[in-house]
Amino acid sequence: AAREGSGPVRCYEPSMGERADRRLALIRGFGPAVTDGHLRVHYQPTVSLEGRTVLGVEALARWEHPELGALLPDEFVPVLEATGQIGGLTEFVLDESLAAARRWHDRGMRLSVAVNLSVGSLDDGFPDLVAAALDRHGVPAELLILEVTESGVSAEREYALPALRRLHALGCRLAVDDFGTGQSSLAHLRRLPVDTVKIDKSFVLGMGTETGDVAVVRAIVEMGHTLGLTVVAEGVESAAVRTALADMGCDVAQGYLVSKPLPAGCLEQWLDSLAE
Ligand code: C2E
Ligand code: CA
Ligand code: CA
Ligand code: CA
Repeated sequence: AAREGSGPVRCYEPSMGERADRRLALIRGFGPAVTDGHLRVHYQPTVSLEGRTVLGVEALARWEHPELGALLPDEFVPVLEATGQIGGLTEFVLDESLAAARRWHDRGMRLSVAVNLSVGSLDDGFPDLVAAALDRHGVPAELLILEVTESGVSAEREYALPALRRLHALGCRLAVDDFGTGQSSLAHLRRLPVDTVKIDKSFVLGMGTETGDVAVVRAIVEMGHTLGLTVVAEGVESAAVRTALADMGCDVAQGYLVSKPLPAGCLEQWLDSLAE
């Protein structure tokens, strides 16, 4: 049935039974996907708004399912979180991204890599796992950025704090993702060992049309700078928005205007094309 509301009209809605089958296929298929090499990491560059230099990449998981086709994380991440399998994904993405960072580093490119964490991964053992992975790949900790969503570091999640502090002590940078969508107060952010805030793309996408969104973005940039944080805008799709962000003093841009997330090989070609 067609759906009302924003977004494209969907002519086909899977039935509840089909959705349950798909979910089951994801739950059962994840283990084999890891061992059979069906997981991928795509990399989306981030650029400085001032000098327009490439600063690093964000690692985004993809699953090439043999029957279901290319799957996006918005579908499989919540399932893996619910079944306690998310740690396997985090380890895979961390390993792949650090291997890539090492390759780029060896070619003289000091690119940071940002890995998305689910709060569920932030247990006591996680910082050791990260330290071991950095060591194994010989990547300096300051090149690794760990992204946790705003809701993940909300005041109710005090238990995640010790792990965040240890990761920070290792030298990794921490970013609060999807900022603006949750309830985090300024006062709370100040207590976290955070270096970066990423403005949620919903506000950035709205900047072209909604004056309210422009005001929200400006407020986050100012607040972030007051706290000494680097401010990243994601979802930058137009040159007009990029200019507005640069005028506000926002530090970093990420979005389709610069590049879509790309497989490592394509990203390397893209980087080479910039150097020409
Ligand atoms: P996110 O961390 O907020 O990542 C940004 C998302 O915005 C990505 O979607 C990216 O492809 C998309 N995006 C980038 N630029 C633009 C733009 O200009 N316009 C628009 N409309 N979208 C843009 P993607 O790759 O589908 O990932 C969705 C979410 O899945 C991520 O949101 C993140 O929360 C989660 N995710 C991805 N990889 C992982 C992972 O390895 N582990 C965990 N726990 N979560 C992951
Ligand atoms: Ca992210
Ligand atoms: Ca985000
Ligand atoms: Ca998101």
